[in-house]
Amino acid sequence: METKLASSSTEFYIEEKAEPPSHRIFPVNTQTLTFIQNNFPTATISEWNDWRWQIKNSFTTIEALSKFLKLTDKEVFLKETHLPLRITPYYASLLNNDQNIGPLRKTVVPVSDELLLGNGEENDPLHEHADNKVKCIVHRYPDRVLFLVTGFCSTYCRYCTRTHMVSQSEKQHSSKKDWDEALQYIKEHQEVRDVLISGGDPLTLSDDRIEYLLSNLRSIDHVEIIRIGTKVPAVLPQRITVELVEILKKYHPLFISIHITHPEELTEEMKFACNRLADAGIPLGSQTVLLKDINDSTNIYKKLSHEMLKVRIRPYYLYQCDPIPGSAHFRTPVSKGLEIIKGVRGFTSGYAIPHYVIDAPGGGGKIPLLPDYYKGKDNAGNVVLENYEGNKYKYPDYI
Ligand SMILES: *Cc1c(COP(=O)(O)O)cnc(C)c1O
Repeated sequence: METKLASSSTEFYIEEKAEPPSHRIFPVNTQTLTFIQNNFPTATISEWNDWRWQIKNSFTTIEALSKFLKLTDKEVFLKETHLPLRITPYYASLLNNDQNIGPLRKTVVPVSDELLLGNGEENDPLHEHADNKVKCIVHRYPDRVLFLVTGFCSTYCRYCTRTHMVSQSEKQHSSKKDWDEALQYIKEHQEVRDVLISGGDPLTLSDDRIEYLLSNLRSIDHVEIIRIGTKVPAVLPQRITVELVEILKKYHPLFISIHITHPEELTEEMKFACNRLADAGIPLGSQTVLLKDINDSTNIYKKLSHEMLKVRIRPYYLYQCDPIPGSAHFRTPVSKGLEIIKGVRGFTSGYAIPHYVIDAPGGGGKIPLLPDYYKGKDNAGNVVLENYEGNKYKYPDYI
C-alpha cells in the first residue's frame, strides 16, 4: 500500500491512495469473526467492512435469521406489522443463540407480543404529524427543529417511536424536493438556532447527500448548532469512514446523539467508530430507551454509562419507552426509571447521569423526571433536602 503525506491548511494527514475506501482498516471482534466464517464464508474482510455491503446483505426475513438463530415460538414473521425487519450482518453477529434470549436480540427480532395492543398505545404517540410544518420538519420547541431526512434505518428497533414512518428500502430516503422545502422553512424561521437531523437514520445516506444537507444548513446564518441523531455507530460502525468524518468536521459545531441500548453494543468496532468521531471534535451524547428485561437495572445502566464515557460519549437522555402499538412487552413502570436515576446519582460520576424523560404522548415534548430530593420546607423556612444516601439536610433559603 502506498501512503503519502498530504497537507491541508491546518493539518497533515496520511492519504491512503492505493486502496479504495472500503478496504480501510477497521477492527473485527472475535465473536464477529467466527460469525463471518460460519455465515458469510465467501465474504472478504474488506467486503464485511464496507458499509454498503453490510446494508445489501442485511437480514430482512425471519427465514434468513433462522439459518443462524434457533428461533423461539415467539420469534415469528409478522405480516400485520408495519415495522419491517432489518438487521445488519454486523449487528446480527452480536446476537447470541442461547436458550436465554440476550438483550440485543430482543431489541431487533420481532416477537408475537408486537401484535398485542396495550392500553393507551397508538401510532405516532408524540403527535409529530400534527407538529409537521412542512413534510420533514417537526417544529415543537421555540428555538429548534427536528429534521426527518429519511425513513430508512440499517437496523430497525422493535420499539421504534417512528414505526409509522420508517421504510423498508434504502430508495425511500426523502426526496431532494422535500429537503429543499425543509431547508427553506429553516431559512425563513430566524428563531431556529438548532437543527436536529434524524429519521430514520441520517448516517445511512451517502456522503454526498450528507454533505448537501450539512452545507446547506451551515449556510444559514441563524443556525448555530447542528445535531445528528443516529444508531449507526452501534449497528453499522463501519459507516464511520475517514471520508465521512472529514465531511462532518467541516460543519462544526456539530453534535451527534447516539442511540445506545446495552453494554454489549460497545464492541471494539463501536469503540473505534466513536473514537474516530470524538477525535474529529464531535461531542457525542447518548440516547437510551429504558427497556424491560433488556437494560432496566441500575447496574446495567451504570455499566453502560461507564463504558460510554470511556469512548467519550456523554449520557444525555434515558427515555421512558413510547407507547407505540405492541410495545407493552418493552415498557417498564416509570418507578423503574426513577429507581435507576436514584441508584446512580451520587454513587458515580455526575457525567454518567442522563436526564430521565418521558416524551409526552400527545406532543407535549420531553418532560424530565427526578426522584424527590426536595422534601419541602420546615417551619423555620429552611429547604429540606435528602441526599443520595437518604440523609436529610437543610438549606437556609434566601428570603
Ligand atoms: C427531542 C426533540 C428535540 C430536541 O430536544 P432537546 O431536549 O433539545 O435535545 C427537538 N424537537 C423535537 C420534536 C424533539 O422530539
